[in-house]
Amino acid sequence: MNEQVAQLATINSGAFSLREVGKIYDPTGARVVALDNCSVDIHANEFVALVGPSGCGKSTLMNIMAGFDDLTSGAMYLDDVPLSTVERPAKPGPDRVVVFQHGALFPWMTVLDNVTYGLIRQGRMKKKEAAEYAYQFLDKAGGLNKVAEYFPGQISSGMQRRVEFIRALINDPKILLLDEPFRAMDTVTQARMHRYLLQMYQVFPKTIMFVTHDIDEAILLSDTVVVMTTRPGKIKLSAKVDLPRPRTPDMITSKEFLVLKKELLTAVHEEAKKAFERGERELA
Ligand code: ADP
Repeated sequence: MNEQVAQLATINSGAFSLREVGKIYDPTGARVVALDNCSVDIHANEFVALVGPSGCGKSTLMNIMAGFDDLTSGAMYLDDVPLSTVERPAKPGPDRVVVFQHGALFPWMTVLDNVTYGLIRQGRMKKKEAAEYAYQFLDKAGGLNKVAEYFPGQISSGMQRRVEFIRALINDPKILLLDEPFRAMDTVTQARMHRYLLQMYQVFPKTIMFVTHDIDEAILLSDTVVVMTTRPGKIKLSAKVDLPRPRTPDMITSKEFLVLKKELLTAVHEEAKKAFERGERELA
């Protein structure tokens, strides 16, 4: 069974491709071009971080990838199969699971029931089988089996977030979409969560898209950092992170880290400055 746990969560990773994706919001005739011609290729098992100034379209892109929102031009593919085009809007699906900034565990269910919910609901396993599987999965996920019978309110916020990752992973998505999952946490908890996510990525290597505004976090965790321009959001640059895995927190003082950080900060600050200047013009 342990082998099954390891296999299930490693085989099913997808290559994700956004081709010239555009998004125009126009609910009341006030046309907002949120995304313009965005192309990103994420390889199977690759960890990509998406950074950019506030309002540049990170959430819009994430919502399109998740199938919560339609694109207005371009297309998106999962393993070379069209997932969404202008004519065929995408729907959310179990192949793309999102973990949001604010927790989304069901407070009235135990950790075990939260984690097995998707497996049972999708008819993939019966309750007993799902529970046995989840216990082994939770054990492999840093000993979380010890809190399986607790309710979310009885465990710390960091532990809750771990359970959310595992709830997402156990459903074996092709891509995991993480929308600033550590934003609301204090720095000590954030550092712990970084270590945990890095460890889980070693155990269950998945395709991951991680939205953040924190450059250190983006470099420490990912294989590639994609920087977006200010609105309309375009891809400004895509930089490979040339640090070995397993990653360790002390890498943030390495020369490779600092050189890349400078390049990325310069790019993000350029865009933030443009956004600020446009804000001033619009107010004038
Ligand atoms: P980010 O996540 O990078 O902060 P968003 O994706 O939330 O940026 O927003 C990108 C742009 O699209 C912003 O200018 C925002 O005001 C606009 N926007 C987002 N959602 C809507 C909407 N539902 N209707 C109109 N404009 C929107």
